[in-house]
Amino acid sequence: MPKPNPDTIFALSSGRGPAAIAVVRISGPRAGAALKALSGKIPAPRQAALARIRNPDPLADNEIIDEALALWFPAPQSETGEDVAELQLHGGRAVIAAVLAALGRIEGLRPAEAGEFTRRAFENGKLDLTAVEGLADLVAAETQGQRRQAFRQMKGLLGNRAESWRQRLIQALALVEAHIDFSDEADVQNSAHGNLLAPALAIARELDVEIAAALADSRTGERLREGLVVAIAGPPNAGKSTLLNRIARREAAIVSPYAGTTRDVIEVHLDLLGWPVTLLDTAGIRDTEDPVELEGVRRARERAAAADLVLWVVDAGEAGQNRPKSIKKAQNDPQNWLIRNKIDLLQGRNESNVTSRRSSEHKSDPKKALKNIVNKELTHKNESEASKNEPIFNISAVTGEGFDQLLAQLARYAEGFLAGAEQAVVTRERHRLALNEVLAALRRAQGGDVAGHEDLLAEELRIAARALGRLTGRVDVEDILDVIFRDFCIGK
Ligand code: GDP
Repeated sequence: MPKPNPDTIFALSSGRGPAAIAVVRISGPRAGAALKALSGKIPAPRQAALARIRNPDPLADNEIIDEALALWFPAPQSETGEDVAELQLHGGRAVIAAVLAALGRIEGLRPAEAGEFTRRAFENGKLDLTAVEGLADLVAAETQGQRRQAFRQMKGLLGNRAESWRQRLIQALALVEAHIDFSDEADVQNSAHGNLLAPALAIARELDVEIAAALADSRTGERLREGLVVAIAGPPNAGKSTLLNRIARREAAIVSPYAGTTRDVIEVHLDLLGWPVTLLDTAGIRDTEDPVELEGVRRARERAAAADLVLWVVDAGEAGQNRPKSIKKAQNDPQNWLIRNKIDLLQGRNESNVTSRRSSEHKSDPKKALKNIVNKELTHKNESEASKNEPIFNISAVTGEGFDQLLAQLARYAEGFLAGAEQAVVTRERHRLALNEVLAALRRAQGGDVAGHEDLLAEELRIAARALGRLTGRVDVEDILDVIFRDFCIGK
């Protein structure tokens, strides 16, 4: 359902610069006019052409801003489905600023909002909603597994399947409606009419099996997309923040450290041998009377309770290392590992000396060291103390002793969780909710309540088809679009 979009939008689509090249995109009915105003010509479609970019302001005396490559993608064969022009400029900030300012002065043009190019692509039928989500995930992917998952989603992993399920439902619905029409006109007992319901129900049964199979994935697709969540918890001063900072400093592990949106949970995203792990420091969990802080603590607790794994950090030299019940028996009962920290302060540390020698062997390439340890531990599985259900680690967050083992076990744990996750078609909660809705309607359609009531059967099939339509964005989606496109950056 292409909607005519009167505005022509433009944005810097590459990074902010300075860089070798900056890409500015223009999309909409006046994209061609804008390109002509800046470069004096429109190149042949989809062929790069050298162009002198001039300031079109009459007062600017035709000043040359930059020499660029210009590309022209006339509608509908463009990314947005509209006329699109693209300029590949030199990536200096002043160049970018001058070109954006010049475009802003052209009538009918305005800066694009976040995700607006992709939104137009969606509105013009170039991408379905699951592909839009895949594209957002591709831009956000931090590990190779996430990249592969996002690329498949962008190319229709779930979208194509959902659309074929929807088509089959529509076929089933047509059979039921034909049955209802025949029943009005003629003898209901006529066997030809009865035969129309049987194939409709057969389709419902097949879809039931296929959709249930897609949902039976232990949520691995969602976990791969979001990263396995590991919470660091423990009593104050045990060294939680020091531990997190040390892990964050490791070149081998770190992807992008950033403070969470609340001041009480710090998140670090790790790439452990290709497996995405989100490490949470819940240092904010402490006793407090301050209502603002209390809210933060509540949120921190909630996130820790929803973690897949809790690293319970204690001071190895102190008594009372038991975990409190609230952490031990959290909501979904995440596994706990006991991390005995500050072993550098203990006497007679034979075992930890071995650890420190081992980690210094690989100082030059920590990633290789981690891989070696994982391999060693996989081949000596029975000897490994830490491979038991709730492993204990002796570490020093200050000297780094015991770190390689801890990270190697984390990588193994992530692998155990996420192996095979790239095949999962469900990668977001939204997908799961929609497919559950479809399944529930299909089950009602096959149930005893509907038997003999063809109008009710038709209605359930309609509900199922609509839920699939919402999943791919074919129907009723206005309310969720803002949420989905919020994740995009400007220029995308
Ligand atoms: P948190 O409250 O659990 O986050 O604890 P911090 O990370 O703030 O650490 C508390 C104190 O213990 C700080 O002074 C750290 O420098 C110190 N500390 C943390 N880990 C170690 C360690 O492994 N060895 C030693 N000697 N001190 C540590």
